[in-house]
Amino acid sequence: MTNQLNYYVNCPICGSSQIKEVLNKPHAFFTSGSASVEKYSVALCHNCSFVFQKSAYTKTYQEAINKLYQNYQQSNQFDFPRRDPKTLDALDFVTHYINIGPQTKVAEFGSDRGDFLYLLKQQTGAQVVGLEPCEQPDAKVPTKIASILQPSSHGQFDVILMKQTFEHIVDPIKAVNNLKTYVKAGGYVYIEVPSLERITEYSLEDFIPDHVSHYSIHTLLKLFKGWSIITWHHEHFLSVILQNKLPQTYLSETFDLSQQLKQLSLFFHDFNKKLYDFKSALIKQSNMGGIIIFFGAGLYFRSLLAAFIDELNRDNLFFIDDNLNENIEPCFGLQRANIDKFKEQPVLVIGCSNDIKSQQAMHHRAATLFSKMSYLYLFSSFSTE
Ligand SMILES: [Zn+2]
Repeated sequence: MTNQLNYYVNCPICGSSQIKEVLNKPHAFFTSGSASVEKYSVALCHNCSFVFQKSAYTKTYQEAINKLYQNYQQSNQFDFPRRDPKTLDALDFVTHYINIGPQTKVAEFGSDRGDFLYLLKQQTGAQVVGLEPCEQPDAKVPTKIASILQPSSHGQFDVILMKQTFEHIVDPIKAVNNLKTYVKAGGYVYIEVPSLERITEYSLEDFIPDHVSHYSIHTLLKLFKGWSIITWHHEHFLSVILQNKLPQTYLSETFDLSQQLKQLSLFFHDFNKKLYDFKSALIKQSNMGGIIIFFGAGLYFRSLLAAFIDELNRDNLFFIDDNLNENIEPCFGLQRANIDKFKEQPVLVIGCSNDIKSQQAMHHRAATLFSKMSYLYLFSSFSTE
């Protein structure tokens, strides 16, 4: 497969060549901050409305990903097992719709340390196994090496879970075909991915190199043709339960392709404009010799700033981040803001979180720290005060 990957790719779901680029960045960082891609590009299929990262269908991208996943440990900053509200909601959802007991064999792709499987076993007694592409030295549940891009060599399971995993997979059709080798007849699949609908509704910055596919319920179910839909929702993420059974059931909602294409095109038009305005505001402040303080030095800070940091005067860029111990931010080498020094100075503070509530909390906190502050959110409500 790898050799066939080509930048001039057709739609990975419907095969159409009617795809248009809707977003590009000259440079974009992976979540880890340790790797990046040049010419990051997102495309929209005008035949089926699928939104996908075109730049992921290249050999160089595959090489970067393989390297990244070899030393990938995402959860080591949280206590085990992680019991955040979104994880507990997912656990409720899965156990409400799927009858899971001590005889049920459950496997999870992208299980990481096994937080979710551990909680599921604790609650139901299920026989759980994690599936990861590489060795997981940190795993707290039995974990085997498996990739959804290969057929199962571990037999079949009653339930397969994929939490925040499926959006990373290049060649989703191949993945879904292989999935049938992992799920027994009558078995279930739980898929949780970022919801394109929520991303467009709240203007969230989900467009990062890690994410290869941006699913709506319609594109996800188009992919799972032949499976029965048990239920779905998109409260936090797009969460879907499907069953491997005949006769298959379909989504009863009607789908208006032209309306969907219109909405997505408008969203990306607006998103690009916000990106341009944001960049312009930063460059203007930088050119005037003004101080810019990034509140939060995580993923959204990195993914956004990577594209144009070279156009800013780095001497005047600073960060604040309670989760970072270092005084020098590791990605671009920004210094931690000296709050006493900037307290009375005019500063531009940038709220760097993808979560609207976190952005608002940052705004309140920044207002207590700096008396002459302008505040800029990333995307959700682009405004200065
Ligand atoms: Zn398509």
